[in-house]
Order: sequence, then C-alpha cells, then structure tokens
Amino acid sequence: MSDTIVARDGMAVTSSDRPVSIPEDMAEVRVRFAPSPTGSLHIGGARLVMYNVLFAHGEVPRLGKRGSFILRIEDTDQKRLVEGSVQNLMDGLRWLGLDWDEGPDVGGPYGPYVQSERKHSYKEAAGHLVATGHAYHCFCSPERLQAVREEQQRQKLPPGYDRHCRNLSPGEVQAKLDAGESHVIRFKMPLEGETRFIDLLRGEIVYQNDKIDDLVILKGDGFPTYHLAVVVDDHEMNITHVTRGPEWIPTAPIHVQLYKAFGWDAPIFAHMPLILSPTGGKLSKRHGGVSLNDFREAGYLPEALLNYFALLGWSLDGKTEIYSFDDLLEHFTLERVSSSPSTFDRDKLDWLNQQWINHHLTVEDLALRVLPILIGAGMVADGPVDETHPQFAQVKEASALLKDRIRFLTEAPDLMSYFLQDELEDYDAALLVPKKVEPQQALTALEAVQEMLPELDLSNVENTEAKLRALADDLGMKAGQLFMPIRVAATGRTQSPGLFETLRTIGQDRVSTRVDAAVTKLREYVTAA
Ligand code: GLU
Repeated sequence: MSDTIVARDGMAVTSSDRPVSIPEDMAEVRVRFAPSPTGSLHIGGARLVMYNVLFAHGEVPRLGKRGSFILRIEDTDQKRLVEGSVQNLMDGLRWLGLDWDEGPDVGGPYGPYVQSERKHSYKEAAGHLVATGHAYHCFCSPERLQAVREEQQRQKLPPGYDRHCRNLSPGEVQAKLDAGESHVIRFKMPLEGETRFIDLLRGEIVYQNDKIDDLVILKGDGFPTYHLAVVVDDHEMNITHVTRGPEWIPTAPIHVQLYKAFGWDAPIFAHMPLILSPTGGKLSKRHGGVSLNDFREAGYLPEALLNYFALLGWSLDGKTEIYSFDDLLEHFTLERVSSSPSTFDRDKLDWLNQQWINHHLTVEDLALRVLPILIGAGMVADGPVDETHPQFAQVKEASALLKDRIRFLTEAPDLMSYFLQDELEDYDAALLVPKKVEPQQALTALEAVQEMLPELDLSNVENTEAKLRALADDLGMKAGQLFMPIRVAATGRTQSPGLFETLRTIGQDRVSTRVDAAVTKLREYVTAA
C-alpha cells in the first residue's frame, strides 16, 4: 500500500479491487436496516432495504447459505424522534413488499430491536471500555466546549474536542464523580497510526487516526450515541454485513476502532451509493418528492419503485429494464452495485410506472389498487377494499377500459368519474360542437341520437357502432363529427376510451339522461349564439 494517497479528511482508498461479499466460512449472513425514526423514510433508505432483502433472501440462499434481514430502530437521539415514524416506516416497507425476518414488531432471538430498550447493554459496554482504558469520563461543560470551538475557528484549526479530560488522573476523575459532576464518556481514539477497513463496493479504505476526534459514546442522560449503539448492536445481533449510506464512511474508522477495543470482529462494510438530484445535489422535495410516502401518495406502484431502485446503480446486462421483484431475487448481486452515485430520473420512473400499469397488472389487480383511492375521493361508496365492494364490478369495467391510459393510480378518480358517478361534472356546451360543424348542425345530430337511443342496445357494441355510423351517413356528417358530441354528452370530455365500449360501460339509462341534458344545454347555446 505504499501508493496510498491520503485525502484532506484523512481518508484514502488504496485499492479498487472489490473483495468477496461472502467469505467461504460464513454459514449465515445477517444484514440489517437501522433507521432513526426522525421523519418519513427517504427513497434512498427504501432502496437500501431492497438491496438488503435481495441480498439476504436472493443472493445468499443462491450461494447455499442462510440469510436474514433485520430491522432495528435507532432511537437514541430522543430529541429528534418523530411520533408515528416507526409505524409509518414499517407500513411503507410492507407496502413495498419488503419484509424483515426479525424486528421490533415480529421479535426474534436477538431482541429487543429498539435501541431505547437496550440501554443497559450500552452502559455496560461503555463501562467496560472505561475499565479497559479505551474510554474516559469527560466533565467539560458546554461553555468550555464552545470556547474551545471558537478558539479553533479563530486559529482556523479543524474542529474537535481538545482531549482535555483524556489526561485526568484516576483520582481527579473519582473526585469529580463523587461530587456528582455531570459527564459524558468519550472514546480514546488512537493518537497515531492508521485505521484500515474493507468496503465491499470501494475496496480498502484507510484513515489517519490523528485526524479523528475522541467522540462521545455515552451521553450525560445515559443514552449512547449512534457510534457506540451501532457497534454494540451489530455485534450482539451477529450482523455480518453493514450496508448504509456513504455519509457514514468517515465514522467507520471509529467503529472499527471500537470493535478492536472490545476485542470483537468487525462486520463487512458496504457503503451504498447516494441518489442525487438531476442537478447533482441532494435529492430534495423540490424534485417532486423524496419520501416513500410522497411516491405512494402520488400513485406509484410498489413494483415500479422497486424496479426503478434496481435500475439506479445496478444492472444485470445493461439493457433489461423491466424487473419484477422475483426477477431481482433471482439475479441481484451486491457485487454489481455501482459505488458511484446515481442520478434520479423522474421521467424514467414515470415511464416504468406506466409500463407496470399498462402491461403488467391484471384488470382485477388494477381495480383493487384504485378502489381505496376512489373511496378516498368519495367517487364510490365507502366499503370493503376487495371484490365484495358493492361497486367493484363497475370499477373493474372502468379499469379494463382505462388500463392503457392510466399513468398513476391517482389519476383514477378523474379518469373514472363519468363511469362511476351518476352526475357528470359541468362542462362547456361549446365542447358539444366539433370543429367544422355549425352549432345548429351539432344540435340536430344530437337530437337524432336522442331519438334513436331507445332502440339502441348499448350492451351490443358492434350494433351500436353500425347504427351510429349509418346515422352519420343519413345526416351527411363524417362519423367523427357525430361521435364527438356523443362522447362529450356521455362523458363531459373530449377524450375517452373507445366510444362504444364507453357507452356500454356507462349504461343505457345514464347515457339517455346525459344525452337529454346535452340536448338541453346545446339548445340554450344555439339560442344564445
Ligand atoms: N441510524 C442510522 C441512520 O438512520 C443508521 C446508520 C447505519 O446503518 O449504521 O442513518
């Protein structure tokens, strides 16, 4: 490693050769997702979960080993907790179809899986580190720390604790403890040398120890900081692979040193790539949503999101674009995940969503997915979200006609309204008059349709079409010129699925009522003109 280049923050990558993801002697692979419940789940987090599940439930079993995926809640930063976020996160992951083998709600042999319920382990671990000389009590007041920071800023020195309490004598420490002085526990980072660890995606990473601070591991309130808790839990839960965002790379050497101080083997690290905005920065709300909920509420399918996550930073052959989750389980390998960040491409995601709706869902499935949205919009009655809903047959018929047009599930209330509601939304009478047709001529045509309707059997699509085409001939109009006023009368829109299927699905009675209303509307329009 003589050609190691050390970066400003002390990090250097010595080799881009990827190590093997699962050592030969590893019989069981255990991965985890360890979110802090501080808000909604970012899609980057959801993608990380997908990678974990695919690895544990796909790649690992393919290699003839056992794999488990664990969900652990990291709630030690009590000030940042957001009420309801754990439930929200679990609902979101289950909605995506990403399930865990062990976790807060399902339990497991290494529980509890919520850090605030494991405080005793961290306290004990911190005490052990103090006893073995790897950690120390720090009694510095917030004011002193602030003064140190300001002085460092003034001198343009890198920020960090000045290790004031690292050299207190045991007697001084005891006296302060006996006096009940408030304190934290800090980890004694080695003052020289370097810390090396392997990142599965990046190769070996080296940090210079003197660039790394003596971080707090146990806070004054008895809660651990992330660094202690993550190491203790990953060890106690037998985690073999730690996958997480690249923002954690700079703290990984501290974790490696903590493992060393405890005398434990460190897991394999894989810092996954970020998802960047199209302009290169962090993906934020401005780019049309960042949380899983945003996408769920915007009418994306879980299948499309998973498919999209897979394409972001991973590829099987550089050309396949549509992957079901089963395909991914069959083909995904962690080793093919790119270590460079990928750019979020909304158009691609939208395209995938439409592909999934148009070509990969059954009509029944689409109907079941739009049903809760239609109920929520008050478009159909409240009722069970399954086939027993009183309007399910109607929703299914509408879904059959619109399946090729829907891009987002949330479009359903608008696109299906004229199928599902008796009343049409108000529309402009001018829409009833096609281009190159006089209003009076459109009125005459619509009156002729009104007259013909009682003899038409709308359930017979071919027959309806033949009769209406003949009527256009009789009226000396092009078929399209007659069909447009009928379409607008029946739907209130100038665009709909095929006219005759649309009329059949709306049904005889409602079409008659709507054509009557359109004739009245058009008469007023003609008179007023
Ligand atoms: N609680 C950390 C987070 O929410 C987890 C980091 C890790 O996986 O180690 O980002």
